[in-house]
Amino acid sequence: MDSAPPPPRSLHDLPLAEIAAELAAAGITPHHSKALWRALQREGELDLHSRAFEPPLQRWVEEHVGEGKAFFLDAPPEVSETHSSDGLTRKFLLKQRDGQTTETVLMGYDGRHTACVSTQAGCAMGCVFCATGQMGFVRHLRPGEIVAQVLHARRVLEATMPGRRLRNLVLMGMGEPLHNYDSVIRALEIISSVRGIGIGPSRISISTVGVVPGILRLAKEGQPYRLAVSLHGSNEEERSALVPASKKWSLAELIAACREYGAITGKRIFFEWTLIAGKNDSPETAHRLAALLKGIDGHVNLIPLNPTQGFAGTAAGEAAGFEFQRILLDAGFPCTFRQRRGIDVAAGCGQLKAEKIKRAS
Ligand code: SAH
Ligand code: SF4
Repeated sequence: MDSAPPPPRSLHDLPLAEIAAELAAAGITPHHSKALWRALQREGELDLHSRAFEPPLQRWVEEHVGEGKAFFLDAPPEVSETHSSDGLTRKFLLKQRDGQTTETVLMGYDGRHTACVSTQAGCAMGCVFCATGQMGFVRHLRPGEIVAQVLHARRVLEATMPGRRLRNLVLMGMGEPLHNYDSVIRALEIISSVRGIGIGPSRISISTVGVVPGILRLAKEGQPYRLAVSLHGSNEEERSALVPASKKWSLAELIAACREYGAITGKRIFFEWTLIAGKNDSPETAHRLAALLKGIDGHVNLIPLNPTQGFAGTAAGEAAGFEFQRILLDAGFPCTFRQRRGIDVAAGCGQLKAEKIKRAS
């Protein structure tokens, strides 16, 4: 009986060791796997057939890579690109092979360039103020689809600002990274490999809405990345009104997990706080937050709300934000405002896609 051939796989899904194993299975030496990896990950090559590889590798590429063959590349085309008026933020909507579109952002301030990538198409967590949450969950992204976003951002940076290097990465695009744990960790291994894109693990931040088992797993596995936790509420009631996921993992459980993470790793945790007028921007909330975080090595990042469709909340005023910051600083927590560059490119998570859908309807 004929068995169906295995479905094609992305070469961008594979770390170097797995590429070497694939080539070895075809009788090709490890030396060639490094050349293939360098072309894919360091040089960001999208057309392997145009390369003058040594003959064994060139033959393997001809036989194994391309439509209808065993392997393909993740090279999602841009559906749209927008840049902020100051030219420092560029946002891309990239089309995946199944037609799903996901957002990637390239930001540059103070001479530092950061890519912000998506980890899922849509998101299952349903935060009320988030354009991605309002869309619902579609599917997880594969490692290669996460890697390809970084390669895309790096390609644009090199083309528009020659000589600049992409040094930082945040997983703060569409989706909940710890809901797609295995693919995210595999993607980060590929992205941080010194022979590949080479973004140092300490310059990579995983942002989570508070998936408690994922936070504990990061700590127990000794994953070297930075952790950011989106809090937005200082007690169960305040938080669950904004973050439905907190009904599954309560604030008490989340804070206990953060304490355990800190105890195991000795690392600082970044807490994100989207300031929403009348919901979580009062001085009482700031005092309660300071008490909640007491004893944790934490840094609070305040984010001005980007208004989204279907959410009535308004951004907190500047005075409320500064008072909130002052209370946390007085309590001994580093507390900064996330820059709001790129509001004119719909830079809030999921907002470019949401606008595209709105314009099309
Ligand atoms: N799912 C992860 C990572 C993606 S969201 C998480 O929630 O942490 C990245 C950050 O953008 C989160 O802190 C989220 O709360 C914030 N965010 C989402 N929508 C926003 C909006 N409309 N305005 C301001 N911040 C927003
Ligand atoms: Fe998902 Fe993060 Fe948006 Fe919440 S804020 S819906 S977790 S992407």
